[in-house]
Amino acid sequence: MARVQRLLEELSNAYAPTGFEAPVREIFRREIVPLAHSVETDGLGSVVARQSQLDGVPKIMLAGHMDEVGLMVKYITLDGYVKFQTLGGWLDQSLINQRWVIATKNGHVHGLTGIKTPHVIPADARGKIFKREEMFIDVGATDKEDAEQRLGIQPGDPIAPDSKFQVLNDSPLYLGKAWDDRIGVAAMIEIFRSLKETTLRNALYGVATVQEEVGLRGAQTSSTLVSPDIGINLESGVAADYPGITQDEAQEKLGDGPGIFLHDASMLPNLKLRDFIVEVAKEESIPVQYEILSGYGEDGAQMQRSRSGIPAINISVPTRYLHSHNGVIHRSDFDNAIALVVAVIKRLDQSEVDRISKFD
Ligand SMILES: [Zn+2]
Repeated sequence: MARVQRLLEELSNAYAPTGFEAPVREIFRREIVPLAHSVETDGLGSVVARQSQLDGVPKIMLAGHMDEVGLMVKYITLDGYVKFQTLGGWLDQSLINQRWVIATKNGHVHGLTGIKTPHVIPADARGKIFKREEMFIDVGATDKEDAEQRLGIQPGDPIAPDSKFQVLNDSPLYLGKAWDDRIGVAAMIEIFRSLKETTLRNALYGVATVQEEVGLRGAQTSSTLVSPDIGINLESGVAADYPGITQDEAQEKLGDGPGIFLHDASMLPNLKLRDFIVEVAKEESIPVQYEILSGYGEDGAQMQRSRSGIPAINISVPTRYLHSHNGVIHRSDFDNAIALVVAVIKRLDQSEVDRISKFD
C-alpha cells in the first residue's frame, strides 16, 4: 500500500511534458526492468517492456502515456519574461497565475504566470478571461540576458506545471498533477508486478508511450514495433461527480471502479473485447462503469489501427480536473483497474484471442 502510494507520488510529481518524457522514462525503466524479460525503446522514445520469452502466442499490448500537458519556451522578452507555446490541450483560465518549472541547461528554474491585479482592471472587465497570448512567465530575471545567462533559459526548454502530490484529508483520494497519464504508467508497473510469477499463455507488453497529448504519436510508432494482437489502453477517465459538470458531458464517478470507454472521438472499442472484459469483471466481482465522451482521444486508437486492425479498448481511472495543475483520483479505482486487467490478461490465450478477433 505505502509502496504503491510512493510510486504514484513520484510519478505525479515528475516533470515530463510532451516530448520531454525522460524523467518518467527513467522511473518506468527502473521499476519495469526487474519485472520484465526485455526492455527496449522505439525511435520516438516510448519504452517497450516484454514480460515473457514466449513466441507463437498472442501479443497483448498495454499502453499508458508518460507525457503530461505543459508548455515550451518560445522566446524571452527584452525585460526578461518568458513567452510560451502550449504542449497539449489547456484552458486559458487554467494557465494563469500558476507556478511552473522550466527545465534548463542549468537545472530547474521556477516561475509563475503573473496576473494583473484587480486594482487596475475596470469593473466591467473583471469577468473577462485572460488569453494565453497575453500571458508570460515571471522567473525573476532582471532582463533577457539575465534569463539566458544566469538562469540558462533558451527557446525550446520544457515547462511543467509545478504542484505536489498529497493525500486529500486522510481520504482515499489522491490530489496531484499529471494523473493523465501517470496513472496508466503506474498501473502497467503494478500489472507486471502482479503477473511476475504467473506463466501466461500470451506475450505481455507494457508500453510507456511518448507524445500522446499532441496526437498519439508514440503509440503509433510503438504499435508498429510490437505488432500486437490485442491492445488495452490505460488512461485517465473524465469524472463527472462535481458541481457544474453533467452526466451528458461525462459519466464516471470516483470510487465506482475503472471506466470502460464505449465511445470517444478517437475510437470505438472492439465489441467482443468489451463484452469479454465486462464478463471478467462480473466473475471477479470488480465494479466497472461506462464512459461515453463526444471528445477525447487516447492511445488505444493507434493500437486499434496498427497492422490491419486489432481489437482494442480503453480502460480508465476516473479523474477530476484533467489537464490542469491539480487532479483527483480514488485509490480503489486504481487498484480495481489493475485487478481487472490482470484477470483479463490471465484469460487471454490463443483461442480466446482468435474468438475475439474474428468477425461473425
Ligand atoms: Zn491521457
